[in-house]
Amino acid sequence: MKINIAIDGPSAAGKSTIAKMLAKKLGYSHLDTGAMYRCVAYQSVRLGIDQNDEAALAAMIDSMSIDFDSDGHVFINHEDVSTQIRENQISMVASNISVFPSVRERLVQMQREIAKNKGYIMDGRDIGTVVLPDAELKVFMIASVEARAKRRYEEYLQKGIEADFKTISEDIEKRDYQDTHRLTSPLKKATDAVEIDTSDMSIEEVRCAIEQLLEALNK
Ligand code: C5P
Repeated sequence: MKINIAIDGPSAAGKSTIAKMLAKKLGYSHLDTGAMYRCVAYQSVRLGIDQNDEAALAAMIDSMSIDFDSDGHVFINHEDVSTQIRENQISMVASNISVFPSVRERLVQMQREIAKNKGYIMDGRDIGTVVLPDAELKVFMIASVEARAKRRYEEYLQKGIEADFKTISEDIEKRDYQDTHRLTSPLKKATDAVEIDTSDMSIEEVRCAIEQLLEALNK
C-alpha cells in the first residue's frame, strides 16, 4: 500500500532533488510545493500586484490555475513557467508572499487535495507540520548555508540562469530567517520527523538514508 512522504527543510537543502529521485524509484508522484509559492510570486510580479496586499494575492490565486505534469513542469493557466519561477528574484518574492494566511490556506488546500489518495512525496516547509501531519514518513533535511548556496549556484549555472554566489548565499540566509520567523506555519521540524544533515552527504547517500527509513517502516 502506498504512503505519503513529507520532506521539509530550508531552501536548497536538496529536498526536491531527492524527492524527484525517490519518486521515480518508488513509482510515487512528487509534488514540489515551493513551486506553487513561486507561481503565486511570479504571477503577482507579472500582473503588478502589490506583494503586501494579502486580499489581492488571494483573489489572484482564486482566478488562476497551477498544474504540474509528470515530468515536474509547472503551468500557470496552462502556460509552462518552469524556468521563470526559478529566478532568484522570484525566490524572495515567494518567501514574502508565503507569510500570508490567505495565500497559505489556498495552497495547502490544493496540496491536500492532490495527495489525498496517497503515493506522494511532497517537499516544502510545512508538509510534516501542517499539510500532511499524518504522513507516514517525515524527513527534515538541513545543510549549512555554504553547502546550500553552492548547490543552488551550480543548479543555476546548469540551467543557464545568470547567478552570483554571494547574492544567492545572502538570499538563502534572508529566506531562512523569514521562513523560520513567520507567524503562520513557520519552517520547523515536526516532532515525529527524522532530521538528516546533508551538508557533507552525496545525493546517493541521502537517498540510501531515506530508503533505510522506508525499510524500517515496513518491518
Ligand atoms: O522550496 P522553494 O525554495 O522553491 O520555496 C520558495 C519559497 O516558498 C520558500 O522560501 C518559502 O517561503 C515558501 N514555501 C513555503 N511553504 C512551502 C514551500 C515553500 O512557505 N511548503
